[in-house]
Amino acid sequence: MKQAYLTIDDSPTKHTKDLVNWLNARDIPAVFFCIGGAYEDLGLPCEGIEQRPDDILHAIERGYIIGNHTYSHPRFSNLTLEDMKSEVLKNEQIIDHLYRRAGKSRPVKLFRFRDIDRGCGTWVVDFNKTGVHTTVIQDLFWKGVNLKPVTPTAADFEKKDAFQEFLKAEGFTTNIYEGVNFDWYRTTEMADAADSLYTYSTSDWMVNPDFAAYAKDWAYNSCEALAQKIDDDPWLNDETQVNIVLAHDHNNLFDRTTRLLDHMIQRGVVFKEIAV
Ligand SMILES: [Zn+2]
Repeated sequence: MKQAYLTIDDSPTKHTKDLVNWLNARDIPAVFFCIGGAYEDLGLPCEGIEQRPDDILHAIERGYIIGNHTYSHPRFSNLTLEDMKSEVLKNEQIIDHLYRRAGKSRPVKLFRFRDIDRGCGTWVVDFNKTGVHTTVIQDLFWKGVNLKPVTPTAADFEKKDAFQEFLKAEGFTTNIYEGVNFDWYRTTEMADAADSLYTYSTSDWMVNPDFAAYAKDWAYNSCEALAQKIDDDPWLNDETQVNIVLAHDHNNLFDRTTRLLDHMIQRGVVFKEIAV
């Protein structure tokens, strides 16, 4: 059986309730990584929990887990360590407040960086230490995205490590993702991360109609191409493994994201209950 945890980034949007209901109707558990306040993405105004609290309350009430995806969705490489911390803590207050409003205790503290920018730019992990797994991990995070990798400085690595320690001290964990046993995950820095990484990206954001002006720089420009990516991915189709799947809750993307999730289900992927 192909098993996976579903994680959804960038909630809330005008579609969040529909997405929760769509998943709920199919008994699919998920983590929603939510942004606390209003922000801009590629020049477009986006809303956060402060603007749409009821949508996230709707998710909490139906048993969905709310993860922290920063207060204003910045790239962390551009921030000081202190600013990185306050991006997390500011959103923590908002998320805790909503759980209190829902009358529920928070089951687990999860955090995900914007664009998996963990403080070292495109170096999601330290590629000096990934050995034979380097290509697989670079493909996972870089494939299809037009970027120029820059080797981080010693100060960048230090900041990244200090922030990981901060996340651990604040109680953030990834121990709910059980059974993710790929060699390239288990034997590298990925397994020790306090933040939620992923092992498969739907890359659904590449077909966001709102981002059409940028799409020429990206490898996948249709749902058909992204469905083919699902069919071809050796890790997602490994029946002995559990994957962590990334999808997005974006304005105007609901139809495409759910189409891709449907395609995964048709291909035999079963979304796992999250152990909390
Ligand atoms: Zn994001």
